[in-house]
Amino acid sequence: MPLHQGHQTPDERPMSVNPFYGETNPVSGMIEAPPKHRLPDGPLPPTTALQIVHDELMLDGNSRLNLATFVTTWMEPQAGILMAECRDKNMIDKDEYPRTAELERRCVAMLADLWNAPDPSAAVGCSTTGSSEACMLAGMALKRRWAQRNADRYPGARPNLVMGVNVQVCWEKFCNFWEVEARQIPMEGNRFHLDPEAAAELCDENTIGVVGILGSTFDGSYEPIQELCAALDRLQERTGLDIPVHVDGASGAMVAPFIDEDLVWDFRLPRVSSINTSGHKYGLVYPGVGWALWRTAAELPEELVFRVNYLGGDMPTFALNFSRPGAQVVAQYYTFLRLGRAGYRAVQQTTREVARALAERIDCLGDFRLITRGDELPVFAFTTAPEVTAYDVFDVSRRMRESGWLLPAYTFPENREDLSVLRVVCRNGFTSDLADLFVEDLSRLLPELRLQPHPMTHDKGAATSFHH
Ligand SMILES: *Cc1c(COP(=O)(O)O)cnc(C)c1O
Repeated sequence: MPLHQGHQTPDERPMSVNPFYGETNPVSGMIEAPPKHRLPDGPLPPTTALQIVHDELMLDGNSRLNLATFVTTWMEPQAGILMAECRDKNMIDKDEYPRTAELERRCVAMLADLWNAPDPSAAVGCSTTGSSEACMLAGMALKRRWAQRNADRYPGARPNLVMGVNVQVCWEKFCNFWEVEARQIPMEGNRFHLDPEAAAELCDENTIGVVGILGSTFDGSYEPIQELCAALDRLQERTGLDIPVHVDGASGAMVAPFIDEDLVWDFRLPRVSSINTSGHKYGLVYPGVGWALWRTAAELPEELVFRVNYLGGDMPTFALNFSRPGAQVVAQYYTFLRLGRAGYRAVQQTTREVARALAERIDCLGDFRLITRGDELPVFAFTTAPEVTAYDVFDVSRRMRESGWLLPAYTFPENREDLSVLRVVCRNGFTSDLADLFVEDLSRLLPELRLQPHPMTHDKGAATSFHH
């Protein structure tokens, strides 16, 4: 969220709403339009208020054309019905809504099984508002465990967390908020994510853990979690340091189990102590739900757990929030039930086929060079070919906006600041028909772009849409 500021200039103005908006009395007694930056003095009829807000929201983009987001933009109407039924339920009221609490528990059990916990009944986990909260919780558990192991040196010693420079911004937040040094491995040449050996080298006695990302947001590539664990095994043999791994599977933890079954990245690796995912990304639920799981209760220090009243007993909870909507958790359970493994496989497979075919067609246009091909996450990044000098990725992003497409352009971090890319995130609902329209729009632009005297975007910072 932007940190919003108050409004400086007065915003009262004569009424300019459509007189039709009133019911029997067209203007409902208003003599001026309601102020926007302070609470209006009096009420409005509901139809008028609805119409004013509705009209303003028309100027939001069309979420289905938003190729920047990983977050679910379409669910079945049946999911909508359930969510509407549950919008009044507060997730924290376990005593009041025991069935919602039970559905949450079942989702955790299903994920523990899906992610191959050695003993799914021993795994612990919770729902969150998204992966960011889940990552905060996982990071806190890592930090607290490290502090317990190093009680003789902490406070005093400064804890650190090792990760690739391509981590999602939530890890920078975690390190900032919880006073942990972020040790980031830069990109190098054509390596756009973490290098296992480099990660092991950055570890020392103050390392609380290493984060591996299943599905880098920068290019959709999977980080090599198995090789990372192997490098940390060798580190342990050499030095005795036993460093746990957290897998940030915000996207990939709901993709790989269905369509990359041979990829070993999860609790099958003994070093993986916790995993998070965003239910609202490839978990296929509208925004507002994530999951954090720990291999066993031993990975989650008991002192971080709070207890709420539950049917006369108490139920352990681990969360940053207290109140939180229950509807998304119910929708997650609905989707698990509705799709099952075969359904998820079909959805993710279709999405990845759309991504791969679209990447292929963009490759064939000749003006672009693919960085990734959509064959891990259904996400790919591409840049302009070296001989293209008339325009750049920022021009493409800006011009595609004219046809309604939100196609982010951004510059890579350390040490590839020279590389700027466009990224397409394919999701369920972005069909091959829509992909055809996307290619048509892009192809139509190219002759114009090629005639530019030079790239037109001067302020690259401003042109870069948020791409996480
Ligand atoms: C999206 C994402 C996050 C943040 O997840 P939210 O659910 O948006 O809070 C964290 N890590 C990765 C790798 C992501 O893709």
